[in-house]
Amino acid sequence: MSHEPYKTVSAEEMARVKAEERKTLPAAAADPKSVKVNKSTGAGMDIEWKDSHRSHYSFAWLRDACPCATCNEEREQTGRKIGQPPASKPGALPMYKDPARPLEITPVGRYAISFHWNDGHTTGIYSWDFLRRECPCEECKADRVIS
Ligand SMILES: [Zn+2]
Ligand SMILES: [Zn+2]
Repeated sequence: MSHEPYKTVSAEEMARVKAEERKTLPAAAADPKSVKVNKSTGAGMDIEWKDSHRSHYSFAWLRDACPCATCNEEREQTGRKIGQPPASKPGALPMYKDPARPLEITPVGRYAISFHWNDGHTTGIYSWDFLRRECPCEECKADRVIS
């Protein structure tokens, strides 16, 4: 384990995510009043929280935000942010990729939701807490400043 300070985009991003995790959310902020997954229209997921905040997540965002260990590691290595699409490899021809959409949506206990994505990926468990902390709306984005 090295303790040398290094600063990369991903180190900053990890620091930001860890700082977010340390914050305690008011219970009502991480408790959905309603969850709507627009599977047939492909319009993503809408959550209304008990504190009346509303979040919208596109399926592409959710796929690129997958919180499983493999995706976390990949993001850490490439400096990709949660919800940010992977950069195409330099020199690689652009490949057509089916837009991300869930084939199946499974509630995980009372605290999370998981998706079976059309690319076969199934390991991400999206807790309400994670979704609220990473809410991609402008208001929340503006609030997420590294302290
Ligand atoms: Zn994943
Ligand atoms: Zn928000």
